[in-house]
Amino acid sequence: MRIVLVGPPGAGKGTQATRLAETLHIPHISTGDLFRANISRQTELGKLAKSYMDAGNLVPDEVTIAMAKDRMEQPDAEGGFLLDGFPRNVSQAEALDELLETEDMKLDAVLDLEAPEDEVVKRIAGRRVCRNDSAHVFHVAYTPPKKEGVCDVCGGELYQRDDDSEETVRRRLEVYHTQTEPIIDYYKAQGLVVTIAATGPVAEVTRRALEALKRDQ
Ligand code: ADP
Repeated sequence: MRIVLVGPPGAGKGTQATRLAETLHIPHISTGDLFRANISRQTELGKLAKSYMDAGNLVPDEVTIAMAKDRMEQPDAEGGFLLDGFPRNVSQAEALDELLETEDMKLDAVLDLEAPEDEVVKRIAGRRVCRNDSAHVFHVAYTPPKKEGVCDVCGGELYQRDDDSEETVRRRLEVYHTQTEPIIDYYKAQGLVVTIAATGPVAEVTRRALEALKRDQ
């Protein structure tokens, strides 16, 4: 299956993507994670991306599309993939369509995770991520680690992402509304969008997502 996940920052895209990718046996491709990996390796791309990310803005299309394309062309993505955080504007969606067309491939679904704005702000403000693995995510109030600042899964250090500060979150939400939301209409025109509520227990949201994807087949 080839799936795109959309939803505002804090909707739980990363959390759900990890779970769905495992169940569906497809790789989880997160452009945010790819950028963060470049930042920690201090690559040129990482340095460039960081300045945009810290301000809550999108990284320029040219480098983002090239990075996403490169990842989608890896052998593990041949049979399908779950894209998380890409495309994030209409020109990226068009670039993805072109890329898929040249490979004679199509998207199966665009899963839209809906969550109220006050809820996503609360989730992001309390989010803590493991330095070893971005799939290990905690929340200071909702899902606290057993020991403060330490990952339950691997013992790694938990930190707050630089772009999770309140001011940057506001900007990210604004960017989501103005630049990313239009891709939902773009994909609606292709009949690909399935929308689910991203509130409630994590496992319940995963169940809803799998149901919606099945119905869509
Ligand atoms: P979230 O979904 O919580 O906002 P991500 O990890 O997906 O978090 O993205 C973090 C940041 O990485 C974005 O605010 C943006 O600066 C950058 N980024 C990620 N994906 C893209 C993309 N497709 N195009 C441009 N910038 C991106």
